[in-house]
Amino acid sequence: MSLRIYNTLGGQLEEFKPLRDNQVGMYTCGPTVYDFAHIGNYRTFVFQDILRRWLKYRGYTLRHVMNLTDVDDNTIRNSKAAGLSLREYTEKYVDAFQVDRQLLSLEDPEIVVRATDSINDMVKLIQTLVEKGYAYASEGSIYFRVAAFKNYGQLTKIDLSGIRDGARIDADKYDKNNARDFALWKARKEGEPFWETPLGPGRPGWHIECSVMSMKYLGETFDIHSGGVDLIFPHHENEIAQSEAATGKPFVRYWLHAEHLIVNGEKMSKSLGNFYTLRDLLAQGYKPSAIRYLLAAVPYRRHLNFTFEGLHQAQQSIERLRNFRLRLTQESFSAGENKALQDRARAACQAFEDAMDDNLNTAEALGAVFAMVRDANTAMDHGEFRAGDRAAFLDTLERWDRIFAVLEDTDYGELRQFGFAKEAREFVKPKTEAGALEGTGARTMGNGHRIGLQVESLTDEEIERCIAERNEMRRKSNFARADEIRQNLQKAGVILEDSKVGTRWKRK
Ligand SMILES: [Zn+2]
Repeated sequence: MSLRIYNTLGGQLEEFKPLRDNQVGMYTCGPTVYDFAHIGNYRTFVFQDILRRWLKYRGYTLRHVMNLTDVDDNTIRNSKAAGLSLREYTEKYVDAFQVDRQLLSLEDPEIVVRATDSINDMVKLIQTLVEKGYAYASEGSIYFRVAAFKNYGQLTKIDLSGIRDGARIDADKYDKNNARDFALWKARKEGEPFWETPLGPGRPGWHIECSVMSMKYLGETFDIHSGGVDLIFPHHENEIAQSEAATGKPFVRYWLHAEHLIVNGEKMSKSLGNFYTLRDLLAQGYKPSAIRYLLAAVPYRRHLNFTFEGLHQAQQSIERLRNFRLRLTQESFSAGENKALQDRARAACQAFEDAMDDNLNTAEALGAVFAMVRDANTAMDHGEFRAGDRAAFLDTLERWDRIFAVLEDTDYGELRQFGFAKEAREFVKPKTEAGALEGTGARTMGNGHRIGLQVESLTDEEIERCIAERNEMRRKSNFARADEIRQNLQKAGVILEDSKVGTRWKRK
């Protein structure tokens, strides 16, 4: 089966065929770095990560460009309020975004570019649009003349008849009912950052930034452009108009858009008190891997209803997979092979691949692997699993994890690495085990869930030291002390698993 994706441009599922052999040019609209990104933003970024991983899995060589919008209405407003230069103000959020990305195991795009580093290229494109009659100046600003571009509205399917020629809008964001000539270049305003350019002093509008940065690195026509559904209008519609008017060529071949994330069935908003950045969730003790899993688990064109219940389930699902892999590698099985079981592992792999080829149906891809885990666990319990079967199951797990990236337990180490030591100490326990910890630091969350916390966590080195001491005690046949150490570790949330090859440990 070949990859089929839903193209917003044609409004249907289409077979994906890149412009050049197995090379894919992809542009994703990055964050506007005026605040910490919220989980709705990360829903889109996780989807784009899954997309890029799947393209690579299918053997494509990827050139993925992501921009950082560090000049627009929002960044200017906030930097002014903070009394900082645009660069100083946005730097903090660029750094935070990078840290968040690593915590969520988002792969780095091949090229990440700041809008303010491409101002000259924006000026050139605007000059071309003026020369070709698609743009005009008014009071120091330059506007795109929507009526001059006959294909305007092709992505959004909007009716242009209501648009009054020459009516203009200066804001970067507006709705379809306000479709009108939009600003490519905004005249200098008192107290705002500006660039001295052949267009006059001013700064670029938001939409021109992405047209310029995408074509600069990917060419005038490229394969994939993606973002959240809220970007379809006006941002992407305007990108198409600017780019195609300037080059006379099709701009993008496949447009992919991720649906909204809602929280407990409601639109996320600060006024409803259900607005969460990634950092808000970390502060409440949730693991980055569980957040990634939850954001990835719902296919990107469906609304994702984010709940804390869902986060708990995500954490449990990950544990189940990790425990299965541990069992697969640590438990001793009788020699030989069970061909039927190996076929089961390969069939699961096939089902996972088919699901991903079907417009990245992550829910089915997860289902395929969990069904396999259930069957394998049953076979192990009944003594039907053979040592020679390990490889087939490990192979399917490894392939699956190339996309989902949650099997390695990196949360604790990475949180500490990035300065979230407190958060790492206070991981929320999966709900099923919360009862055992009641009275030892359980707390009630805003949404009513009662959640137990690990009272104490040890560093990796401390754990290794305890295990070494326990081994020493066992060698000396001091089993009482060895047992005590094991129990103490367990209280601190560390589980030991003894096997022929030594003692492995993991955090609960
Ligand atoms: Zn963009």
